[in-house]
Amino acid sequence: MKLCRFDDDRLGVVVDNKIHDVTAAQDEIRAAYPYAMKGDAIIASLPEWRGKIEDMAAKAEARPVAQVDLLAPVARPSKTMAAPVNYHAHHAEMQADKAIPSTRPKGSGIGDQGIFLKSNSAVVGPSEGVSLRFPDRRSDQEVEFVIIIGKQGTDIHQDDALDYIAGYTLGLDMSLRGPEDRSFRKSIDGHAVLGPWMVTADEVPDPDNVSFKGFVNDELRQDAHTKDLIYGIRRLIEFASSFYTIYPGDVYYTGSPAGVGQVYPGDVIHAECGLIGPFDIDVRAHEFGGD
Ligand code: MN
Repeated sequence: MKLCRFDDDRLGVVVDNKIHDVTAAQDEIRAAYPYAMKGDAIIASLPEWRGKIEDMAAKAEARPVAQVDLLAPVARPSKTMAAPVNYHAHHAEMQADKAIPSTRPKGSGIGDQGIFLKSNSAVVGPSEGVSLRFPDRRSDQEVEFVIIIGKQGTDIHQDDALDYIAGYTLGLDMSLRGPEDRSFRKSIDGHAVLGPWMVTADEVPDPDNVSFKGFVNDELRQDAHTKDLIYGIRRLIEFASSFYTIYPGDVYYTGSPAGVGQVYPGDVIHAECGLIGPFDIDVRAHEFGGD
């Protein structure tokens, strides 16, 4: 099942490029979960609700995907995790790029650095765009494969890790380059794009065997395959859960493949994955003095 959020916080099931509105299910689920829960009620409820949501979708009116504004597929992740340098080729390009200051020891990788967190307030969907606050500094696109956690767990062994995954989506870990702490630079509003929707885990037989691509203005920059991950999907979950309890709806950027590069206002970033779908997102200059 492909599950999306769209327009004014509506829930939809995507079938053949059409969105079937199941917002009534979302209303009922959210009303039944305590406000103080950790995680996202819709994702937490999927084991129980999936069948009902599919039945509702079959009867619901459908609209073409092109006619809606896509939001991030998860409304309330309790945290937004992200792997650094998790592809050898990206590690090499970062080491070689003298314009990118490194605040970490030369050559260190994910095992030494750990993962990092992006602010949840940076999460947006494709319709919301990415704004650049520092036009005189370099901001790069990092199109990544993203895990959406399905249930609570901690100290998870990698053999059990797939049981904790609700589904997958594509992400854009927008990255202002500079000397500041990584989570500061990568938590600017709009710098955690998720989309176009969540594909439930049953539709991805092997998450370590997924190809995806990232383009800027039709130029192919990232041509990637998750088999090249240094820490594969299972190990990433084991690693994160050795530090954190993970909750339903937590999102986990699995790391950027090689091909990152600067983007400018007016650019369009395109991400695509056969098992998930494509999205486009516009890059614009930040409007100072806004809300
Ligand atoms: Mn990244």
